Amino acid sequence: MFEIFLTCFIAGIIQTSCLPNSHEHAHPSSHVGFGYNENDPLGPNHWPEKYAKCAGKYQSPIDIEENIVTRVALPPLMLNGFYAPLENPTITNNGHTVMVQVNSTDAVSISGGPLLNPSFKFAQFHFHWGANDSLGSEDMINNHSYPMELHMVFYNSDYSNTTDAQQYMDGLAVLAFFFEVTEKDNKFYKPIVQSLSRIVNPQSTVPLEESLKLVDLLPSNVDNYFTYMGSLTTPPCSEGVRWIDFKHPILLSHEQLAKFRTIHSDAGILSHNFRPIQPLSNRPIWYNSGSPTNLNLDSETQKSNSFKNQISRVFLVFSFVPFVLFYFNN
Ligand SMILES: [Zn+2]
Repeated sequence: MFEIFLTCFIAGIIQTSCLPNSHEHAHPSSHVGFGYNENDPLGPNHWPEKYAKCAGKYQSPIDIEENIVTRVALPPLMLNGFYAPLENPTITNNGHTVMVQVNSTDAVSISGGPLLNPSFKFAQFHFHWGANDSLGSEDMINNHSYPMELHMVFYNSDYSNTTDAQQYMDGLAVLAFFFEVTEKDNKFYKPIVQSLSRIVNPQSTVPLEESLKLVDLLPSNVDNYFTYMGSLTTPPCSEGVRWIDFKHPILLSHEQLAKFRTIHSDAGILSHNFRPIQPLSNRPIWYNSGSPTNLNLDSETQKSNSFKNQISRVFLVFSFVPFVLFYFNN
């Protein structure tokens, strides 16, 4: 017994391998004006009547045909702060989608890859889905639709927020992830999926029951991605959005996907919320065959980890004392 605690004591000074990892996988708006039903006066075909940019030449989503993409060697795409638990995240049904936001997003940013500005700050993430598992993504790959798509939205740090940034041709960047159906529930999506029953009605917001880390939401491989210039896929359809679409999908069970289809818009059940494919208009689409993506353990996270390690060492020293006393008293 003494030897075990002595080993732990020494290990605690060097690292914290005898304590359970305290941060392992912590579990942590809008209004009517457009809709998604084809024959509805508010449907996608009618968006340009109210939002002129939706008739623009370089719109999203698009179909990405792998045989026409250009392979390019881009510098590493940096995903910064993705390991930090989101601070007090809330989940909102805005009548068009389910969106997760946080108060302070300073710690989370992306850079590198195809991005020219040194930093794009995290704003929110949201989902697009379909009426069944055979469709629902916005962009398509080789004319294939996936059952759902996750958009993580970032804005150029030269601007003050997404509303400001979307006026500029270098204002926004979106990380897009496709989903595929699998047998097992994805445990990292439980905080989101379990919250959906509490935001069935449009214009409702609740805190996420457990926090989450963006890194846990990603697919197993984020090195391979397509990238092109497009637009917001909802009105006002502003162009100048840098899209980064990851090739490898995130896995979710049928039951988890089906929960998204219980969300209501002002017009009833929001069974689907993906915009139809838009013309490519000869835009280049790149496929990164260069550096892998860098899931950067940024300096803030390192500092925080170092503080936790110090606390762990103090804890170990104090837990060690009773055993020393016990040992010498006997
Ligand atoms: Zn979106």
